[in-house]
Amino acid sequence: MKENLSLQEAQSILLSHCREMGTEEVELHASLGRVLSEELRAEENIPPFARSPYDGYAFRALDTATATEEQPVFLSVLEEVPAGYAPTAKVGPGEAVKVLTGAPIPEGADAVEKYEVTTLKGNQVAIYSSFEPGTNIIPAGEDVVKGEIIGSKGMEISPPLIGLMASLGITRVPVYQQPTIAIISTGDELLEIDEPLRPGKIRNSNSHTLAAYCRAMGAKPLILKTPKDRTEEVGEAIQQGLQQADMVITTGGVSVGDYDVVKDAVRYINGEILYWRLNFKPSSMVAAVKDGKVILGLSGNPAAALMVFQLLGMVYIKKLMGCTDYGLTELQVTLKNDFKKPSPAGRILRGRLIYEEGNTFMELTGVQANGILRSMIGCDVLAEIPPGSGPIAAGSKLKAYLIR
Ligand code: AMP
Ligand code: MG
Repeated sequence: MKENLSLQEAQSILLSHCREMGTEEVELHASLGRVLSEELRAEENIPPFARSPYDGYAFRALDTATATEEQPVFLSVLEEVPAGYAPTAKVGPGEAVKVLTGAPIPEGADAVEKYEVTTLKGNQVAIYSSFEPGTNIIPAGEDVVKGEIIGSKGMEISPPLIGLMASLGITRVPVYQQPTIAIISTGDELLEIDEPLRPGKIRNSNSHTLAAYCRAMGAKPLILKTPKDRTEEVGEAIQQGLQQADMVITTGGVSVGDYDVVKDAVRYINGEILYWRLNFKPSSMVAAVKDGKVILGLSGNPAAALMVFQLLGMVYIKKLMGCTDYGLTELQVTLKNDFKKPSPAGRILRGRLIYEEGNTFMELTGVQANGILRSMIGCDVLAEIPPGSGPIAAGSKLKAYLIR
């Protein structure tokens, strides 16, 4: 069993135990946030025809060669084409068609002049400057050309992709099935949220925070009942999770205390422990695998559990969901506050990004103790204090990870 891993090592071992989910087809709107399981190619141009970007007149550029402010050319207007209608006339020499924004360009025309800079006398429109072919014409396929790839396999479906699919008439979308994540909080002190407090007890928050994160990511959380802090019971709960889900996350019981039974519970069900603990704070965690499914054991301390979940769990779940862009986004931040504690083993700090005077700052979201769940609210960046560090002064630059 490996111990005290770096974040990169811990991530890569976990990711090497990832499986591919099955696929399904869902209705367009239901596909938001899901992951494309196939490449999508445009079978049409967007827009499907060349169109006018303005209210104006369409004509042959050639006919305007001699036009000037003083000596305009006059063209006969054949018809008016609003958006949504097809032209009936073909534009020949000395002719023009009135087009409104979004209207198709009539056959024969290759330029458009804006309505405001023309004058109309009877059915003769005056054009006061000369045009190059193609001026003020939106070509068919300006946005997407037929045959182009609009979405790749493993891409997360975003609102603009929904719009492109709508433009192409795609009503059903091929996506990966959503992984189910079993969540087990361990700890004899835990009460359900609807239970009144009793001496020595606290309500279970971890199951609910983790379930909410899973849901927000597009995975399906399954909260299991809290087992007693005994190896067999925790083992049976994990086994049940493995049967019902694609991954199991536990919280609590991963340190070195008498009741820290998660590692033993994994061994009890013949799971393989991949590694135990990280080489920075918060260090508590265990990663294991059984039946090809990953078990991620997090600390019971809410903030510690969530930070490790964001750095390891979310990355893993993204890959499990089929996302090709599963890695964390790295950036450099300037610390806004002093952080007074030394960090002999290295440490992760939680904060929020602030952009000020050309600098990307990280402002700590509050007290950094492992149990402070409040300091995860508004936290969109985790920064790394390197091992062997003393107190860190405001203004120091740190490597950080964007938490989306
Ligand atoms: P442990 O990791 O089991 O040593 O627990 C560390 C701390 O986190 C203890 O103070 C626990 O009471 C607390 N804790 C454990 N599980 C949870 C949970 N599900 N929700 C909130 N707090 C918890
Ligand atoms: Mg415990």
